[in-house]
Amino acid sequence: MGDLTKNLSRWEFACHCGCGTDNVSPDLVEALQIYRDLAGRPVTIISGCRCLRHNAAVGGEDHSFHIATEEVEGRAGDARVAGLGLREMYELALKVPAFKNGGIGIYPDPDKRFIHLDVRGKKARWGKVRGETVSLEEALRHA
Ligand SMILES: [Zn+2]
Ligand SMILES: [Zn+2]
Repeated sequence: MGDLTKNLSRWEFACHCGCGTDNVSPDLVEALQIYRDLAGRPVTIISGCRCLRHNAAVGGEDHSFHIATEEVEGRAGDARVAGLGLREMYELALKVPAFKNGGIGIYPDPDKRFIHLDVRGKKARWGKVRGETVSLEEALRHA
């Protein structure tokens, strides 16, 4: 049991720098629970909320939807689904309206292999291969 939803807990979304920032958007949590239910498999949150300092330290975009403060809710999660490839993770994300109409990024590098999902409220798609931003389709070809 999670303390946010059936499968998700607040600690999973806390900033990895140890600052304790975990002001995650309920819309994101709800969408990820729907995603988890559709998958029927464990979903690991690789990165949820990031404080401004940690976002900069990991090379995040200045206006990353991972950024959270006391006033701003983190609206992005990087995730992996146990036993699924990136293309399957992507196709599953399209079944969740908040992600279909939100941001989806594909990160196929061997040391990453995760999908970025956010609830920004408008459609955005991209991929990142060896540090270069590419189209989502191009990223899936490397998956
Ligand atoms: Zn932090
Ligand atoms: Zn991300």
